[in-house]
Amino acid sequence: MTIDPTNEPLPHPRTGQRFVSPVPPGTGWPDDPALPDTPVAHDADDVRRLARTSLGELDARVSVCRACPRLVDWREDVAADKRASYAGQPYWGRPISGWGDPEPGVLIVGLAPAAHGGNRTGRIFTGDRSGDWLFAALHRAGLATQETSVHAGDGQRLVKARMVAAVRCAPPQNKPTTVERDTCAPWIEREITLVAPHVRAVVALGSFGWDAALRAFRAAGHAVPAPKPRFGHGVEVRLGEDLTLLGCFHPSQQNTFTGRLTEEMLDDVLLRAAALAG
Ligand code: SF4
Repeated sequence: MTIDPTNEPLPHPRTGQRFVSPVPPGTGWPDDPALPDTPVAHDADDVRRLARTSLGELDARVSVCRACPRLVDWREDVAADKRASYAGQPYWGRPISGWGDPEPGVLIVGLAPAAHGGNRTGRIFTGDRSGDWLFAALHRAGLATQETSVHAGDGQRLVKARMVAAVRCAPPQNKPTTVERDTCAPWIEREITLVAPHVRAVVALGSFGWDAALRAFRAAGHAVPAPKPRFGHGVEVRLGEDLTLLGCFHPSQQNTFTGRLTEEMLDDVLLRAAALAG
C-alpha cells in the first residue's frame, strides 16, 4: 500500500472535484445520500434506533454509521493508505448503502463491500472484478443500463432492481465477525421491510448472502421455511406467494477464475429473477 500521510484532497475520477479520504458527508461526492448533519450511529443500540426511518434517510444514516470500531478503523485506514494503482484517487471510506430502484422487483443480496471496490467508489459492486462480472450480467438480463459500473456518477442505473450488502463496511479478509454482522443487521432488515412489497425475486450471492437474506426476510415477517433451506447455485425457495429466493454463487475471482461460476450460470439466475419480477 502507498501511505498518504498528508491526506491531501484528490480529484474524483469522474467529476474532478477534490475530496479527502474518507469523504465527509454531504460534500458533493456523486450520489452521496448523507448531509453533514445526518445522525450517526455509534453502537448497536443506535443502529436499531436510527434504522426506523424512510428509505432515503436510511441510505443516508447507513452511509455515516460508526457502530463497529474494528470495521471503521479498517475502512478508514484502507481509504487513507490506498492501493498503489489508485493512489491518485480519493477513497469513499464510508459504509455502502443499498443502491438502485426504491421499488425493485429484483433484490440482490451480497456479503460486504470490497476494500478497494465499493470502499473506494462509494457504490456497491463498483470498481472491482466481482462487480465487472455482475454488472455485465445484469446488463445482459436487462436489469442495468450499462455493462460496467466503474465510478459513482458514471450514469449507471439499475432497472427495477436493487443491490444491498448484508454488512455495509468492508471487512478485513472479507470476514465480518458475528457481532459485526448482528450489529449491522437492523440496516438490511429495515431496508427489506421497506422494499419487500415490490420484490418478487431475491438473488442471494454466496452462502453468506443466502443466510442474511433468510434472516432479514424472517425478521420482516415473511414465511421462511424451517429447517433453514440449504444454499446452492440455482436453488429456489418460496418465501411467500409472490416471492422467490434464488441462490447464486458469488462472482468472486475465486469462483470466476476457477470456472465454478460461468457467465452462463450467472445469466441463468439473473434471467430467472427478471422473469419472476415480470
Ligand atoms: Fe455500521 Fe454496519 Fe458498518 Fe458496522 S458494518 S459500522 S453497523 S454500517
